[in-house]
Amino acid sequence: MVADLWDPDDGWRLNEFQDNLPQHMIDNIRSVLVDPMAAEEDQGIWNLSSNGQFTASSAFKAISPQHQSSLPPSFWQRIWKLHVPERVRVFMWMASKGRLTTNNIRKYRHLTQNDKCPECPDVSESNLHCLRDCVLAKAAWLKIIPA
Ligand SMILES: [Zn+2]
Repeated sequence: MVADLWDPDDGWRLNEFQDNLPQHMIDNIRSVLVDPMAAEEDQGIWNLSSNGQFTASSAFKAISPQHQSSLPPSFWQRIWKLHVPERVRVFMWMASKGRLTTNNIRKYRHLTQNDKCPECPDVSESNLHCLRDCVLAKAAWLKIIPA
């Protein structure tokens, strides 16, 4: 327990663990004071969720490359500053995060048994397919950006 490494009179018992930790961690530990009057038990905190509780989805997001954005923060700021209806900003944000509720996601969530695109029966409907590769998407893009 962490409390075992704290001496109420002398503070941290650094000599018991400082040889196994890098200096920046030692400095971080020194900056934490333990209140001996607080009668709280040690507890584990999962710092990848907002409430400190472990969830499988937060762990998955942490290790999944598709959930880690390589886009700079300015990209997100530009989306949120666009003068378009809120639903368009939300759609753009969800599309950029790969979170549109396409059939492959619906199948993953057991909301359907068919992950295929309604227009392209042999192709799984992913976010990229829906926005770029589908025959309907291509037709829409060609109207906006002629070939
Ligand atoms: Zn399609």
